Amino acid sequence: MKDTTPTFDVCVRGRGAVGQALALSLARLGLRVALVAPPVASQAGRPGAPDVRTYALGARAVALLGQLRVWDALQAARPGAATRVTGMQIAGDAGGELAFSAWQQQVRELAWIVDAAALERELATALRFAPHVTLTEAPVSAALTAWCDGRDGAAHEALGIKVERVDYGHRAIAARLVCDRPHQGIARQWFRSPDVLALLPFDQDEQPGYGLVWSLPEAQADALMALGETDFEQALAEATQGPSPHSIPAAGSPGRLALAGPRAAWSLRLARATRWHGPGWVLLGDAAHVVHPLAGQGLNLGLADVDTLARVIAERQQREAWRPLGDERLLARYARERAAPTWLMGRFTDGLWQLFAQDNAALKELRNRGLSLVNRLPPLKRWLASQALQG
Ligand SMILES: Cc1cc2nc3c(=O)[nH]c(=O)nc-3n(C[C@H](O)[C@H](O)[C@H](O)COP(=O)(O)OP(=O)(O)OC[C@H]3O[C@@H](n4cnc5c(N)ncnc54)[C@H](O)[C@@H]3O)c2cc1C
Repeated sequence: MKDTTPTFDVCVRGRGAVGQALALSLARLGLRVALVAPPVASQAGRPGAPDVRTYALGARAVALLGQLRVWDALQAARPGAATRVTGMQIAGDAGGELAFSAWQQQVRELAWIVDAAALERELATALRFAPHVTLTEAPVSAALTAWCDGRDGAAHEALGIKVERVDYGHRAIAARLVCDRPHQGIARQWFRSPDVLALLPFDQDEQPGYGLVWSLPEAQADALMALGETDFEQALAEATQGPSPHSIPAAGSPGRLALAGPRAAWSLRLARATRWHGPGWVLLGDAAHVVHPLAGQGLNLGLADVDTLARVIAERQQREAWRPLGDERLLARYARERAAPTWLMGRFTDGLWQLFAQDNAALKELRNRGLSLVNRLPPLKRWLASQALQG
């Protein structure tokens, strides 16, 4: 009897943005891919509810989504589904300020803000039309298993991998907001002790608005989550209308902010798996590394992982097709290339968080002076912006 069981080159475990982008990238190379998701898609924060986050994506992530034919579909989905960031205003807690502009960086935009749920939806739509991809609920045997099952997935236990992890004891509250003034493409961020608040320009049903990411100590975050809408909006007004970043002339005030939907909260951590590859397996995205969202870089790093692994595999097809897909030397090339940028971003976000977490008068003075100093050093500003753009 003929065996009709499909055979796969790659089993991708996890159907988040990273797993979906990887399945699409590998299918484009002609590989047979099984994309595995547990029966009930669960989501951190609010299981089963639509993701309320907006993601800041840099140039490299957007280029990858463009190659996968997802970026155009996302932009066409509805007006403003992807909003261009042309300026960024950062304020410290004692007058420090730092501003970036696309014009100064000589780029069209510093980043794009996209709807997290819409991005996953467009990736899923593209997968439906992709040849060589089979969606399945159970893992299958394949030459290579790519674990993209996020920070709390099964990979670490199944593979016996140690994860170096620091829990920040903070939660990030995310929500969609509408406001009574146009955002003009300006992202605003307040670094204080103990909270970090970001307003990412993003229109809500064609009304000017922002995506909110507000990180605070757990008890404060829980108290804010428990407030009714009016009280939460009042707390938000107090947190965003203070002296800074009024003091930044180009920024002005974001205006009156109102909730446009539910809030959700995520606990925050810095984490890094101590091994990213072995015979027949590899880790990508949050399964490999988790960073604080204060720089909006987690998914950018995950999509850069996808881009790198797909390139390493494409090069194998051209030059050393005899090498099995699960070959450790092949996978080591991917892990080596991704080690430094992900480690640096972890250190950078953690360093920034630590710097602002402490309520010490001398440190407060120093960090605010530091922000303003960086603001006056164009080469350093250009370097920081280019790091954020590349992911
Ligand atoms: C508040 C907040 C704001 C953020 N903002 C930004 C931003 O602006 N820009 C940015 O780049 N990043 C941002 N991030 C980070 C970003 O959300 C993550 O880096 C990104 O979602 C990771 O994608 P992933 O596919 O690796 O993991 P996930 O999105 O966690 O997806 C993993 C998938 O695997 C599934 N799964 C779990 N267990 C299993 C299993 N055993 N088998 C199979 N599947 C499994 C899950 O259901 C899920 O679908 C933010 C994070 C937070 C918390």
